[in-house]
Amino acid sequence: MHKDEWQEQEHQEIQLNPIFIEIVDLEGNSMDKSPNLGTNRLLFHPNWSSKEGAWTINIGGQEVRQKQMLLKHEGKPEGYMLLATSFEEARELLDNLRNILLILYPGILISLFLTMRYLAGKSIQPIQKIISKTNQITQSNLNERVPVLDQEDEIGQLTRSINELLNRLEQSMIREKQFTSDASHELRTPLSVMRGTLEVLIRKPRTSEEYVKKIQTALESIDRMSAMIDQLLALARVERSGESMKDEVEIMSFVEEVAVQIEKETGREVRFQTEESIPVFVQVSEKSLQMILNNLIQNAIKYSDGPIDLEIQVENGKPLIFVKDQGYGIGEESIKKIFDPFYRDPSALEKLIPGTGLGLAIVKKLAQESGIEISVSSELGSGSAFRLGF
Ligand code: ADP
Repeated sequence: MHKDEWQEQEHQEIQLNPIFIEIVDLEGNSMDKSPNLGTNRLLFHPNWSSKEGAWTINIGGQEVRQKQMLLKHEGKPEGYMLLATSFEEARELLDNLRNILLILYPGILISLFLTMRYLAGKSIQPIQKIISKTNQITQSNLNERVPVLDQEDEIGQLTRSINELLNRLEQSMIREKQFTSDASHELRTPLSVMRGTLEVLIRKPRTSEEYVKKIQTALESIDRMSAMIDQLLALARVERSGESMKDEVEIMSFVEEVAVQIEKETGREVRFQTEESIPVFVQVSEKSLQMILNNLIQNAIKYSDGPIDLEIQVENGKPLIFVKDQGYGIGEESIKKIFDPFYRDPSALEKLIPGTGLGLAIVKKLAQESGIEISVSSELGSGSAFRLGF
């Protein structure tokens, strides 16, 4: 049918988009073929099924893609039509694509790598600034801070955290320096008193009463110094030991025992009071609690003349211990400073009440280490109440 179609260019020649056609019978004997096949033949597949796709063969040195179709006449298979077309262009396209990919792929990879390196470098630039600044900060320039570049992102948060850490370090350095200078000052005072007393004593011969009096003054200075050194050692021990071991302490009997013991030792009335009747247990270092109560009661004894009250209240199942006196009280100005090391109220100095100003600093440290909350309320002339919460 339409045999003249075979005269068209694509069936005649093999240079430009040739289409090869061959008709075979059911055994594969060639019945007719397009002129461009010349003496070549297309490849016949005897066991062909219509599901099979196309295959590649070689005709006259050219790669071609071939297909096989069943020809029927009035529903009866009569033969096959073999169709083939040049695969050269497709091959060229595939080759070009492969070459382009071979060049592009490493190119893209390299440029991606370089871009990423650049971007990563740019994004860690602020971190490098932080590193170089923190490396510069030492004990001598602890007041300097890392500049905060961006307030919101993680790097901004990191910078702020580092600055807060520096703040805390600076504050503790300042406190440490202040403490050392206060300690030297406090130790120098009794030493100067002692030196002065002894110098006066050797200037000329004295009566034996004068010798006794002056030596007594010197001994008082020595006592003051050794009390202070004891307190300093106690403070250093608390700081060094860190968080102390906790015991299960029954507060009612523990505080009552402390009251009885101190009353016995000092001869001052220490009254134990509570409205609770059931035992209350807390997890606390017994030794620390004993030291805290001792210090507070010794202060109450020093700064008052009347009886001392040790009171326990229970709030939401948690005990509160009060150490109360009806003594001189603490002024508004002093109350903020009494827990500072070496702070002594001017009235205590005036009244010549012995002390080092370290007792409450030790109490505060011990309370911090043991997880006890300490607060004070006081009124000048009517007494003070120290409150311990667990
Ligand atoms: P010290 O008693 O050796 O002076 P502390 O650290 O124990 O040192 O106390 C600091 C200061 O707090 C005291 O100098 C005193 O002025 C004041 N203070 C402490 N406890 C009381 C109290 N119960 N009543 C009045 N003042 C007190």
